[in-house]
Amino acid sequence: MPDPETPIVTQAMRVRAAAGRIAYKPADVSPARRVQRRYAARLWSVRHARFLERLYGRFADLFLMLHPLWNALGYRRVEAPVKFVERRVKGLMFDCRMCGQCVLSSTGMSCPMNCPKQLRNGPCGGVRANGNCEVEPDMPCVWVKAWEGSRLMRGGDAILDVQKPVDQSLRETSAWLRVTATAAADRAAAAKAKDAAP
Ligand code: SF4
Repeated sequence: MPDPETPIVTQAMRVRAAAGRIAYKPADVSPARRVQRRYAARLWSVRHARFLERLYGRFADLFLMLHPLWNALGYRRVEAPVKFVERRVKGLMFDCRMCGQCVLSSTGMSCPMNCPKQLRNGPCGGVRANGNCEVEPDMPCVWVKAWEGSRLMRGGDAILDVQKPVDQSLRETSAWLRVTATAAADRAAAAKAKDAAP
């Protein structure tokens, strides 16, 4: 039983206290990095959710149009270069974490994987009065932003759809290629059903 008089020292408090006197200074500790970036690009994307929704729609159509090319080259072979571009573009614009099952079109262009709790269906109960995250006090809650972004989008009500839990086995895979291949398969199945209809 802990002594109620003894102050509780957490692991995080120990690490913080030691930070000034030890030689190892991690280059990529998230709080400092995040303060530096100030989430500018991510917030820009939310503010321009309508424009990005349109752009994404065109881009998805183009990718689907190129399905025969992806097929000819082999989805496996194009995966690495597509992933390279996807990671950089979406990383820059949305702080994408490459979960492989993108839901940006349902979340006002605010990536839910940036939520420290990785909630995919709305905020927790800890959103601060200023709309920031309870875990990362300097960060706007991704779900508050998601709601704002969704109100700008034509298909913004998709935010009300219940998202499935994240499938961790899809991490580090290309959502662009998955969406394209799925749309191509659906299109082929629809065409087949139409042909088979009396
Ligand atoms: S939902 Fe997944 S794929 Fe989409 S931006 Fe976020 S981490 Fe990237």
